[in-house]
Amino acid sequence: MMMDYILKKRERNSLAVILISAIALGITVIGNFRMSFLKDGDFENKNIIERVVEGKDMNKRKLTLEEERVLIHKGTELPFSGKYWNFKGVGIYLCKLCGKPLYRSLYKFESHCGWPSFDDALQGAVKEIPDIDGVRQEIVCANCGAHLGHIFYGEHLTAKDVRHCVNSISLEFKGIKSNNERDLGIAYFAGGCFWGVEYYFQKEEGVLSTRVGYMGGDKRFPTYKDVCADDTGHAETVEVIYDASVVSYEKLAKLFFEIHDPTQLNRQGPDIGSQYRSVIFYTNDEQKRVAERLIEQLKEKGYNVVTEVEEAGKFWLAEPYHQDYYEKKGEHPYCHRPVKRFD
Ligand SMILES: [Zn+2]
Repeated sequence: MMMDYILKKRERNSLAVILISAIALGITVIGNFRMSFLKDGDFENKNIIERVVEGKDMNKRKLTLEEERVLIHKGTELPFSGKYWNFKGVGIYLCKLCGKPLYRSLYKFESHCGWPSFDDALQGAVKEIPDIDGVRQEIVCANCGAHLGHIFYGEHLTAKDVRHCVNSISLEFKGIKSNNERDLGIAYFAGGCFWGVEYYFQKEEGVLSTRVGYMGGDKRFPTYKDVCADDTGHAETVEVIYDASVVSYEKLAKLFFEIHDPTQLNRQGPDIGSQYRSVIFYTNDEQKRVAERLIEQLKEKGYNVVTEVEEAGKFWLAEPYHQDYYEKKGEHPYCHRPVKRFD
């Protein structure tokens, strides 16, 4: 009886989503029709003509006109038309504009609405803002502001009761080789200025994405200025999302110990303060065991390692200009020089 009720409730909810989708489709068609008048000529060769969009686009990625219409001008793709609405690959979804990660496949679910649906996002990756229509909540990439879609609550479609309704065209999927969700690893490392730490992890095979941010302190919504004051308890931290079927956590942790000096207390080279301390924030017991074992190995070799091993807390995304810092500048880190410490 209860099951029947739940199933019926789910069916009703699915019907409601389909109905909302039909209305949204209407809005989209009207919107596209209107856009074709507004931008007459601009869209004649959409998907063929490419041009560089500047301004919000920090990495100056090339967008097609259709991508620009959705990502920059907040348009909507037609439902059931995108690449990912019915896609079931295992991996992560990146922002098409800035390349930073937004969702993992674990959060994706079938909502029958014709757009990719997720019931969660990576920490701090997506920002909600009131839509210009005065009714809906728009979602944008927290790093670059690119339009993703809209967010809906209270539909009772999953236990989390939230649906990120995202345009496929706003996303870029990166899959993992084994296609097994268990092989999608997330690791956090703090080892001095996060620009340099991110630089080296980005180059490692099997690393799907990196972000820089703050972890380990109590202050909510910390800014770089707050963290530099050295009283928030936060450490400059790099999030590394990796394919464990390609690169092991041990290999990443060894890299961490070789791109920074784990014997320096509350500093790293010229950067002084507890925000530059050396920490491994583990996300599971296996990572903790590996980190502790490697520290033991280094101690046996005579290194006076001061690296802390702590359970990962909340990750606060750092400001956009800190992301991919050296990549964007085309420079090499001043703060980190790799040194071989393992055999
Ligand atoms: Zn972005």
